[in-house]
Amino acid sequence: MAESATVRVAGKAAELRAAGEAIIDWSAGQPDFPSPEVAVEGARRALDEGFTRYTAAAGIPDLRQALADHYSARHGAPWRLDNVLVTVGAKAALFELIMTLIDDGDCVVIPSPCWVSFPEQVRFAGGEPVLVPLSADDGFAIRAEPLIEAIDEATRMVLINSPSNPTGGIVSAPDLRRIVEYCAERGIVVLSDETYERFLYDGGQHASAGGLAAEFPDTVIVVGSFSKTYAMTGWRIGYALASADVIRRAIAVQGHATSNATSFAMRGALAALQGAEPQVERMLAAFARRRELVVRGLESLPGVNCRAPSGAFYAFPHVAAHFRDGEGSLELAERLLDEARVAVVPGVAFDADDHIRISFACSDAELEEGLERLAVAFG
Ligand code: PLP
Repeated sequence: MAESATVRVAGKAAELRAAGEAIIDWSAGQPDFPSPEVAVEGARRALDEGFTRYTAAAGIPDLRQALADHYSARHGAPWRLDNVLVTVGAKAALFELIMTLIDDGDCVVIPSPCWVSFPEQVRFAGGEPVLVPLSADDGFAIRAEPLIEAIDEATRMVLINSPSNPTGGIVSAPDLRRIVEYCAERGIVVLSDETYERFLYDGGQHASAGGLAAEFPDTVIVVGSFSKTYAMTGWRIGYALASADVIRRAIAVQGHATSNATSFAMRGALAALQGAEPQVERMLAAFARRRELVVRGLESLPGVNCRAPSGAFYAFPHVAAHFRDGEGSLELAERLLDEARVAVVPGVAFDADDHIRISFACSDAELEEGLERLAVAFG
């Protein structure tokens, strides 16, 4: 398997920082906010109570039920406790679902550019990722027709990530419905990674596949995470929502992989789900401001073309004008780290070599300083 390029760049940036260098780290995909106080308190209480043993592999019932209720209330999903699996981050949910559903030779249609782990997880299961290019001119919107055209008899799954890492592109409700309907007729699963569901801008609304689960209960699967919404990346709590049959099979995989997610972290996640909304809203307001700042700053640089992302917290500018002889995004990213001490993720990691990914999950001051350094590097 290929090493995760995002992890590699973040690692090199961390090394330089440890050596005393003033690095602007735009590579990490994690909110810089503290985890909600209610979550910390919930986990602390769990520890005080000695809630430190194995739990059921699928997770604690209270959290499973709360997630089912949450999706019913928000999206009208028919899910109940046995439709929910709590996992070690969304990453494990995706991995376990792919291991459950994909066999040798099965094809998985994925809009591209896509998150680095999707193709690798599919290959790990013996499947074949079929990457369908999205258009930068269309804001990397996830459209139904190109995905449908890529579907054939070997297709077992369509894997959508809206809002998208790395592009910030989203799927509209009509496109999502078209994809889900088309797939359901053919028994193809739609796995919807909604890790960034709350990060939407300019009044955009999130189209959740959960809203289609009542109509298509056997083929709609949602994956979600506490990492980004609640600034809880290190807690490692995510989840899968699907038919009881799929969840039962995924629990069997999890039972042999991680067993349950961490007991007291689940109690903290439950508290976040129940009580952290005010903090989430404050964080989202900060992200909307930072998005304006970074897009305006990037657009003002010569040879840089950056559309405002519809969602998530990444800018994905076109920077090919700054490639020197024979360079691609990897060499440019290395040069930016070496010369400007700014860490970005090269677009080649996402099959989009003309781009770099800039995470604006950092302070306004760091954004401003990084933009100044880029202005010098690209001047
Ligand atoms: N899905 C996408 C699209 C992501 O960008 C990430 C993390 O960067 C994940 C899933 C994994 O999140 P978690 O921290 O819940 O494992």
